[in-house]
Amino acid sequence: MESKITKIFGSQVFNHQTMRTKLPKDVYKMYKKTILEGIALDPICANIIATAMKDWAIENGATHFTHWFQPMTGITAEKHDSFITTSGNDGVVVELSGKELVQGEPDASSFPNGGLRSTFEARGYTAWDPTSPAFIKEGILCIPSIFCSYTGEALDKKTPLLKSQELINKHALRIVKLFGNTSAKRINTTVGPEQEYFLIDKTLFDQRKDLIYSGRTLFGAKPPKTQELDDHYFGVLKPKVASFMDELNEECWKLGILAKTQHNEAAPAQHELAPIFTLTNVATDHNQLTMELMKRIALKHDMVCLLHEKPFEGVNGSGKHNNWSMATDTGTNLLEPGVTPYENAQFLLVLAALIKSVDKYQDLLRISVASAGNDHRLGANEAPPAIISIFVGDELYEILDCIGHDKAYTAKNIEKISIAVDALPDFKKDTTDRNRTSPFAFTGNKFEFRMLGSQTSISCTNVMINTIVSEALDEFATQLETSTDFENDVHEIIKQTIVAHERILFNGNGYDEAWVIEAEARGLLNLRCTPDALPHYLAKKNVDLFTKYGVYTRNEMESRYEIIVEEYCKAINIEASTMVNMSKKNIIPSVFSYIKDLSEGVATKQSIANIDCSVEISIIKKFNADVSFAYEKTEALFASIEVANKQGTSIERAKYYQTIVIPFMEELRNIVDEMEQNCSKKYWPFPSYGDLLYSVSI
Ligand code: ADP
Ligand code: MG
Repeated sequence: MESKITKIFGSQVFNHQTMRTKLPKDVYKMYKKTILEGIALDPICANIIATAMKDWAIENGATHFTHWFQPMTGITAEKHDSFITTSGNDGVVVELSGKELVQGEPDASSFPNGGLRSTFEARGYTAWDPTSPAFIKEGILCIPSIFCSYTGEALDKKTPLLKSQELINKHALRIVKLFGNTSAKRINTTVGPEQEYFLIDKTLFDQRKDLIYSGRTLFGAKPPKTQELDDHYFGVLKPKVASFMDELNEECWKLGILAKTQHNEAAPAQHELAPIFTLTNVATDHNQLTMELMKRIALKHDMVCLLHEKPFEGVNGSGKHNNWSMATDTGTNLLEPGVTPYENAQFLLVLAALIKSVDKYQDLLRISVASAGNDHRLGANEAPPAIISIFVGDELYEILDCIGHDKAYTAKNIEKISIAVDALPDFKKDTTDRNRTSPFAFTGNKFEFRMLGSQTSISCTNVMINTIVSEALDEFATQLETSTDFENDVHEIIKQTIVAHERILFNGNGYDEAWVIEAEARGLLNLRCTPDALPHYLAKKNVDLFTKYGVYTRNEMESRYEIIVEEYCKAINIEASTMVNMSKKNIIPSVFSYIKDLSEGVATKQSIANIDCSVEISIIKKFNADVSFAYEKTEALFASIEVANKQGTSIERAKYYQTIVIPFMEELRNIVDEMEQNCSKKYWPFPSYGDLLYSVSI
């Protein structure tokens, strides 16, 4: 039976099903080969696909097309061109040539490039990524594309991701071949990103300059109730939220996004959407689209969707969980412990590759989630700490420990586990102690990386994971390809990896202060904030890794580093400037009004009769002192921004923002929040936390 979902699913996507009906058989076959083998598309084929794509788009109401790409701003970019071309005799025809499909040339001078381009060569090129299907959004045919400079350097988040996919495909294939799999032609990584967000009332949002300019509240006294009762998590959806989710699901489904799970999250006004996992680059596109749809659809329901990592102090922030795995084109998940000992050996080897690479490149994983917004989450009580560690569960940990140290495996009564011979238990059942505090957790048949911020693209994280795991797989494959005693050598590699990298395995409570101390003793990195983490990006081992495998050139890495540092400085600059603005233009004048009215009240009361006004007078005195202090802090914050901007290099600026400007912001916030706590509601210039967090009441 055809359901509403199956009817609309993918209806706005030029997907395989549509292509099969719209393209000549041999062209479709060529297209599939292009994707499978990662080769360039023949120009004749491109022309035929372009025409079919255009006809399909027009049939579905599109008038324009765009190369849809993901510049370093972190959001997506599009420049629309209509399909019309003059026909020579006053008329027009609609057209999309193969050349237009395959390549675009937007003027790109205003996208961040971190020094890769000067404005005189501001041209940027976009090129179709045929592995991600084209789709129609708001009447525009969107052609997923990569974006690079005139000299071919990547200026986007997609190019390195595609390169890292090719890389892991190559080395993971070598591994499965060694284990006798000759039928697999390709290995893809798959990702299911769980997305958290807040919904608040639009009218209230419009009254908060901090939300408008910076995406988060920079002031706000704690309301009497937040999330202490755990009554929002998985609670019944409010009708307004439910109708938003219905529309969001429908729009996602039309775009082929596998929206699956939705629920209320821990904080009031917080929610989550999780799709079913799919190919990593498609999941990346889909996550960008999902965030865009969330924002757009919320507005239609008179709400605003907040994707910032920490919109409200004192309640949980929003993150994104990157569930990652690898699978062959024939459907075998390489992180699925197998049913035979031989399959288990392959699983343990792949696991060893993850353990080795995550330990060696803790810094890269941390950097992939570094942003001013995410600094509020990592290390706070709801998110994993800034320390990278791997959770594998007790059962698997015991097995790894036994292999690493030649210990007896009690559960199976085995003296010493012999890989590829001894059967291992079904770890999938080991879900009893799934550790929610771990940043990198093995959850049965995939790894869940939980450090991502809610608004960041998942691309960078997956570039890192794909590349670091590729290196370990490459090294293992190189050793095993010349092996004369395969089973023994697999055992040795796993054993040596465990011995060398077991410090990264941690099953305990990641939120515990004791872990910070233990992690330090183990020599694990604890890069608490963005300016601490970023300089590690250009460490020799990291530059060597990316350049060796051709995922980034050194230039590209330097430019990315610059862009992220700049982004951090700009974010704090906007927040600090907004605080000064709100303080001077609204908060201080409002407190003065309150003081004035109280004083006039005292005068009136005393002129009628000599009544006791000690309460009013003590309130006036307190506010007078507090507002003077707030004024002083505002001036100090303002001055610190000026000094920050005069610092020499971008990382010096970032450090200054982190160590000097942010503490001033906190001091100003503290005194302002105290005044808000004490102030009559009538005088306070902004909606309160209580108003915002409980604004969607129906
Ligand atoms: P949680 O308990 O963290 O909420 P769920 O079981 O709801 O986790 O699902 C988490 C996500 O993991 C989903 O998006 C799901 O599709 C995804 N997932 C499941 N298997 C894989 C896999 N093999 N590769 C990548 N992602 C996967
Ligand atoms: Mg999760």
